Amino acid sequence: MERKLADADEWYGAGTYVRMGPRTERRGEARQRAPPRPREDRKPRVVREIIKDDKLRLTFYGAAREVGRSCIMVEGKGTKILIDAGIKLGEVEEHPLIEDSMLRNIDAVVISHAHLDHCGYLPHILSNGFDGPIYSLKPTLELVNIIVNDYLSISKPKGIRKDALARMPKRYKMVEYHEEFKVKDLAIKLVPAGHILGSAMVEVREGDNRLLYTGDISLRSTKLLDPAYTEYLKAETLITESTYSGKEDVFISEKQVMADFVKSMKETLKDGGKVIIPSFAVGKAQTVLFILDDYVRSGVLPKVPIYVDGMINKVMRIYRHNVIYCKDELQKRILMSDDDPFKSPNFHVVEGKDERAKVIKAEEPAIIVTTSGMLKGGPVVRYLEKLGDNNMNKLIIMGYQAPGTQGSEILGGAKEVAFDGKKVKIGLKVETYRLPGHADREQLLRLIGKVQGLKNIFVIHGEEGKQKVFAEELSRKYKVTLPVLKEHYEV
Ligand SMILES: [Zn+2]
Ligand SMILES: [Zn+2]
Repeated sequence: MERKLADADEWYGAGTYVRMGPRTERRGEARQRAPPRPREDRKPRVVREIIKDDKLRLTFYGAAREVGRSCIMVEGKGTKILIDAGIKLGEVEEHPLIEDSMLRNIDAVVISHAHLDHCGYLPHILSNGFDGPIYSLKPTLELVNIIVNDYLSISKPKGIRKDALARMPKRYKMVEYHEEFKVKDLAIKLVPAGHILGSAMVEVREGDNRLLYTGDISLRSTKLLDPAYTEYLKAETLITESTYSGKEDVFISEKQVMADFVKSMKETLKDGGKVIIPSFAVGKAQTVLFILDDYVRSGVLPKVPIYVDGMINKVMRIYRHNVIYCKDELQKRILMSDDDPFKSPNFHVVEGKDERAKVIKAEEPAIIVTTSGMLKGGPVVRYLEKLGDNNMNKLIIMGYQAPGTQGSEILGGAKEVAFDGKKVKIGLKVETYRLPGHADREQLLRLIGKVQGLKNIFVIHGEEGKQKVFAEELSRKYKVTLPVLKEHYEV
């Protein structure tokens, strides 16, 4: 079955989806779960199992030897929390392997950041028994609203109750970075992760036993965000992402990447062509737009319009009114001058079909930044239909393209791709540049080295092959685990 996925593949975040080998779950199994039973015939509340004093029990319901459906249960003596509740979108949608019957015993959910692989399961858990608070930063919760609703309207997953969804915002508990809050006997703290607006590492403490979860992390400063905050990290146990943990994952400097990027853009624009940049709506699009705006302002790129189409515009507004969570320079620039880069005169919002048609028809060169990032759907398809067969134009891909997506087919040299069964000719030039929102191997090692008192490392959110090599290296100094789905670990 062909699935429509307009903006919904935003969960890939900075373009980091990695398809794994054999599936751990039968196709469609998660989606075919029975609808929720009426309350009265649900099983009686399970008695909590006893966990040894000062121990935390971890269970990974997703993101174990895979990227996607991040969902970790952390249990203290008398408390159960879930960190992240994500889904995995690919050819088929996969969900965390947590039983619905367990959901009402969960005291709270903490969301690290607003990518669907970390928050897309929220509607399901709220519809199937979870009735506790959802903790996160303010911008994360605002972004969650947008991307979760977009996902629901496109993917229409089963077992979602409208009333539960309506209650979702009432469950939100906004917390600030570095401020410890309590969920029964667990003390929790969110620390900036540098990945997207509002992204956080999660520290969980029971007594003196500390656990740190990286979420998705970047140690590199961007035009919008400070890098992850890595001072004073202290934990015996670390759960780390490992998306780019491979030996080959060495990111070259942004400057170098951008030099090639600009040269290539200039060529196309000079010849009167249009440059199409498909982009993930949360995170990547903002970074790309800020870079482009800078280049146009400074004259490095010719003064051409930068059209912004799709969910990116809504997300930009959320970034703008949460600018306090962006880096200081950006806040100052907005505060001290009339020069607000979010409202740059170089950006032109494209709203609706008619405006899009005008952009497509216009003779002059232009840059078009639009969703979806992996070309699975969204406005980028409309642009490719009309502009894709003209070799004056150029498609610039900035993020990872998961196998099986139209983006990866095009990168592989396909001269024709199908969208919803409709074939589109690809005659334009295609190039790719890497602008990662994640830590590379060196950054991950640097982060790990900063955690004081560290003994145990759980490596998740990555491709198994890379993880094994990475784990091997880490195991010289630490006890390293590549967790198995649904298995329990006491730390
Ligand atoms: Zn992410
Ligand atoms: Zn992720």
